[in-house]
Amino acid sequence: MVDTAKPVIVASKCLEFEPCRYNGQVISLKIIRRLEPYVTFIPVCPEVEIGLGVPRNPIRLVSSNGQSRLIQPATGVDMTEEMQGFSDKFLDALPEVDAFILKSGSPSCGSKDVKIYPSTGKVAATSKGSGLFGGAVSNRYPHLAIEDEGRLNNFTIRERFLTKIFALARFRETKAARTTKSLVHYHTVNKLLLMSHNQREIRTMGQIVANHEHRPLAEVVGDYENHLRQALFKSAKKTSNINVILHAFGHFSKQLTSAEKAFFLDNLANYRTGKIPLSSVQSVIGAWIVRFKDDYLNEQTFFKPYPKDLIEISDSGKARSY
Ligand code: SF4
Repeated sequence: MVDTAKPVIVASKCLEFEPCRYNGQVISLKIIRRLEPYVTFIPVCPEVEIGLGVPRNPIRLVSSNGQSRLIQPATGVDMTEEMQGFSDKFLDALPEVDAFILKSGSPSCGSKDVKIYPSTGKVAATSKGSGLFGGAVSNRYPHLAIEDEGRLNNFTIRERFLTKIFALARFRETKAARTTKSLVHYHTVNKLLLMSHNQREIRTMGQIVANHEHRPLAEVVGDYENHLRQALFKSAKKTSNINVILHAFGHFSKQLTSAEKAFFLDNLANYRTGKIPLSSVQSVIGAWIVRFKDDYLNEQTFFKPYPKDLIEISDSGKARSY
């Protein structure tokens, strides 16, 4: 189950898929290419879907009576209702998904920090908000992994995003199996991962899985899912990750040499100060899990939260502008 879960991701179509931007271009995005073998993408271009051609005159968000309207300055056409209608219809028809990767800065797809102008004239933007499609996504799926593409250039954000989408996908598959065994398995193998996110929720989730009240399975799974969403809502804090890692380190400390321990603690200090990503520390523990044949840690998703081919240290920084 751990190795096969395939996240379902809705992505802005101009990110690697099709040259559908207003200027007829496509944006090259490495993370999309790398993810392709491991996820199912549902690409969408809301502007093309509402009938705008490629290339087209750009559209923008314009503030009007406290609302953001989607307007094409060159023609003065207001596309707000079309875009809202498309967003509702598209999201209503979606299967269960785990994540969205949306084009940053787009008045349609951007999930936040999209420029809002006071008029359609040659004026500077005066505020920021969400694009119409991106805003509809955030409102409907607050518990899912939603990222603007530019933020995924940052390795910490990317690690958290990948961890979350695979944890959600594993749960989606667990739910589909409809057995107590699969729920117990999910809880068992994700225990350290969930512990790193939220200590309080993992205790509650353990009680839900134990099901001392003998509730029907569907009720138990639904309750578990609500708490899982809470647990994964915020990213794991560095201190929580370090606690989990030290807990795992305790499994081997008697078998390691002083030099190995020093090497590990040095690595951990580098993670603490942001010099290396979490995956670097996890891979050291991962090697010891194999070497010392630790079955309990071996099945913990904390040490292999997503396929290792997706680990990439690069951090090219800031988001591009629309
Ligand atoms: S940002 Fe969204 S609406 Fe704009 S071109 Fe890309 S997919 Fe289409």
